[in-house]
Amino acid sequence: MEKSVKMKLSAGVRRILQTLNSAGHEAYLVGGCVRDLLRSVKPHDWDICTSALPEETEQCFAGQQVIETGLKHGTVTVLEEGEPYEITTYRTEGPYSDSRRPDFVHFVPNLEEDLARRDFTMNAIAMDLQGNLRDPFGGVDDIKAGLIRCVGEPDQRFQEDGLRVMRALRFAAVFGYEIEEQTAQAVHENRTMLDRVAAERINAELCKLLVGKGAGDVLRQYPDVFCQFWPQLGPLVTLEQHNPWHCWGGWEHTIHALEAVPTDVTLRLAMLLHDIGKPACKSTDEQGIDHFYAHPAVSARLADEMLRALKFDNKTRERVVLLVERHDAQLLPRSQVIRRWLNRLGPKAFFQFLDVKRADNMGQAPEKVRDRLAELDEIRAKAEQILADRQCLTLKDLAVDGRDVIAAGIEPGPEVGRVLEGLLERMLSGEIPNERETLMAILRSNIVRHDSNSMGNLDS
Ligand code: ATP
Ligand code: MG
Repeated sequence: MEKSVKMKLSAGVRRILQTLNSAGHEAYLVGGCVRDLLRSVKPHDWDICTSALPEETEQCFAGQQVIETGLKHGTVTVLEEGEPYEITTYRTEGPYSDSRRPDFVHFVPNLEEDLARRDFTMNAIAMDLQGNLRDPFGGVDDIKAGLIRCVGEPDQRFQEDGLRVMRALRFAAVFGYEIEEQTAQAVHENRTMLDRVAAERINAELCKLLVGKGAGDVLRQYPDVFCQFWPQLGPLVTLEQHNPWHCWGGWEHTIHALEAVPTDVTLRLAMLLHDIGKPACKSTDEQGIDHFYAHPAVSARLADEMLRALKFDNKTRERVVLLVERHDAQLLPRSQVIRRWLNRLGPKAFFQFLDVKRADNMGQAPEKVRDRLAELDEIRAKAEQILADRQCLTLKDLAVDGRDVIAAGIEPGPEVGRVLEGLLERMLSGEIPNERETLMAILRSNIVRHDSNSMGNLDS
């Protein structure tokens, strides 16, 4: 394995390791890049650790562009042909009293001590220029077995830094690995450590986790961890749904729906949160059937609150909330309906909306949803055709503009906009074509309906 791994080192990496070695310092690739090489995945960055002190590292690269990234923490970034390489002196870490960064670091003379501070065995493997591995914690075996295992005593490691709880879940989801038993138990037991971790850091791990191929299984196995930072999930995890449409409870339905959307953060968040309002809306009728009337609006409100708490950017939050709010809206396979939706949402959000609806159906009783899925396919095909035909969907697509309206004798002012809206509305409903001559004729004969409220009903 070593030989083939070594072949994959870029010239830049080799030069850096060589430069440090020639000055008499030890230097190894370490962490994610070694792990990824061993998994036969191209590393997205290169971390190097060395016995050289930061000043010594700087001296080694004196002729080159060097950034003092985190001198206090022992890190120097060297640019090789524009590529940044982080070079960090062997170090151990003090406690994380704010769970953000260690209070202090100590430089240490040997590699093994540096490897011992790292979170998981697969992340605690070092490789030298010749491709020789240093693997004191059995990381290579764990990678082969697809196991995430803490370096050292799991309880202690999660107590030092609560973010590791999320990192364990993230790696499990992204690689499709299992978490080793003792480490898994410690994840559950130390989930409250997440209370001390900054929202932004949880957010970053969660986003990677949700687009991982094993996201569903991680949600299944560790709902308690997710409830730690999003307690609003709690009632959904235990929600039962006695309803002919549903063959699963709230959490299993949510997970199936999440697994059925493409691996995109916005869509995955929308599925995770689409039914979050259901527990609060549950009622049971005389036949014992559960209903969840008006839950999308409650879900949207909760989703907004949850996404804010985890410091999501406005664009992601607003789109997720929109999709959650609409996920249950009626959508008929008629061109005028589809044109109105395209007008309201724009093509991107509309197709996301279709993805959400399809996934929501995929999480329901299969025999019940066959027709609905076929209908969604029909709607998608129609929408694609409408876009391919470049049909008029917004005011700027109209074959006439404000100047034409004024030329037809309407006073400049808000009335001009209302007239154009009226034309667009008739076009969306298929009543008139988007042809300049026809529109001009309508304007001139002044038979335009000025009813700006006629946009109201998306289903008609
Ligand atoms: P990615 O592919 O996401 O970059 P990574 O393992 O490289 O994964 P980084 O955050 O880049 O993750 O960290 C680099 C290395 O630093 C890790 O491989 C691990 O050895 C160590 N490390 C990072 N975060 C922690 C932590 N919270 N606790 C202990 N060690 C950590
Ligand atoms: Mg990395």
